[in-house]
Amino acid sequence: MSTVDFRQIPDERLSTTDELGNRIHVIPAKVSGVWSQRKNILHAFLIILLLALPWISVNGKPAILLNLPDREFTFFGTTLYAHDGPLVFFILATAAMTLAFVTVVWGRVWCGWACPQTVFIEGIFRRIERMLLGDRMQQIAFYNAPLTFGKIIKTLTKWALFVLAAVVLSHTLVAYFVGKNNLFHMMGQPPAESWTVFVIMLFITGVVLFDFTWFREQFCIIMCPYGRLQGLLLDQNSITIAYDEKRGEPRGKPNVKGVGDCVDCYRCVAVCPTGIDIRKGQQLECIGCTACIDACNDVMAKLKRPPELIGYRSLKNLEGFKTRFVRPRPIVFGSIVFILTISFIFAVSSRKEINIDIIRGIDTPYEHIQENGTDFIANHYKLHIKNQSNGPIAITVQLSPEETAKGFTLSPQPLTLNLQSKQNLDFPIFIKMSSATTKDFPLTSNVMAEFDYGNGRKVVRPLVFVHP
Ligand code: SF4
Ligand code: SF4
Repeated sequence: MSTVDFRQIPDERLSTTDELGNRIHVIPAKVSGVWSQRKNILHAFLIILLLALPWISVNGKPAILLNLPDREFTFFGTTLYAHDGPLVFFILATAAMTLAFVTVVWGRVWCGWACPQTVFIEGIFRRIERMLLGDRMQQIAFYNAPLTFGKIIKTLTKWALFVLAAVVLSHTLVAYFVGKNNLFHMMGQPPAESWTVFVIMLFITGVVLFDFTWFREQFCIIMCPYGRLQGLLLDQNSITIAYDEKRGEPRGKPNVKGVGDCVDCYRCVAVCPTGIDIRKGQQLECIGCTACIDACNDVMAKLKRPPELIGYRSLKNLEGFKTRFVRPRPIVFGSIVFILTISFIFAVSSRKEINIDIIRGIDTPYEHIQENGTDFIANHYKLHIKNQSNGPIAITVQLSPEETAKGFTLSPQPLTLNLQSKQNLDFPIFIKMSSATTKDFPLTSNVMAEFDYGNGRKVVRPLVFVHP
């Protein structure tokens, strides 16, 4: 395996490709320090959260369940249905705009701290490698060593653990879409019982293995669309990880007079997971992982020099100015996030526990019926009601007293519909009026129907009544 020679990183091409465009693998050295500790804690929390969410119940429902076939999306006890599309739009738009806002202010903090690509590679797969094969230099020696029985055993063990991790991740991901009970049921059945899910699971396992064990930083460098957007979002005041060139240059040996603080030890490059040299300035390949900050702080501490030769700072900082947080881009993105959040809260709070659709019957617009010797005009409607609440609901359907006083009657009457949580119900209803009375009414009129589902909760919907 060819690995990055970090003292020979060329300016004119990616550090992870040779002059022919062949892949050069990055094996970053282990680093420890304040930022690594904080990142490790966050990564552990995020991994546990991702693995645990499908198994946790809130209000008797999975914390997150994305039921695509039934178009039902459950988030922490609340289920959104297909007609809740605007809410899903608000969630996705708010997430996208929040990411843009965070990037404008703090650069690629998402990539280094919370992106699943970084979290799983650093939190699981590189840990497995370091546990079995050691740090950077031991790994390079291991890969270049001749094939021995010990090397075969270690390689097989590494891949067994990789596959185990990939299988756990793919099962967890599938649990988000089918639910834990269905997942357990499918796991107890032969694959032929649920071929589609089985093939999806195999595919995800394959993608995880390919990406997290081999492709790795290449995804961030050449494929990630968010990474491509950095140039558009960042400005001179965005906080990124940067090298203080004024303080560090000219670099040189520690005891030489007239040189800066950088001793050219290349430690910051050795720990970089994308194989770049941050001293060359802001680069698209930098995922903001903070490894070079800790690495350089460690060197500075040994040399008894102040830390943060590499640190979080803006380009304005580097030029000797203060970073401006109040500026057009954060204001625009922050305002959009604020408006979307308020709109989302409003949309959630005005969301109905029952959804009622009323359409006219597809037969004639009206019909004559005889009851007790009286001729009535009847209009036919189809009710489609869905209970979107977490419990059963009894809905009493009736006309308002004003409509009854005018001579309209609802049939059947009394009418109480009992719906379980998530239940859909189609039900025919009729509005009637005696033919003699209709003469006093325009050809079409709105008749207000009330849907009372207890505790003062009521929906009033108009039904268009027509007569000859
Ligand atoms: S770790 Fe610090 S001192 Fe060493 S090369 Fe990088 S910037 Fe210079
Ligand atoms: S330059 Fe530093 S912060 Fe950027 S990816 Fe490399 S180690 Fe991480």
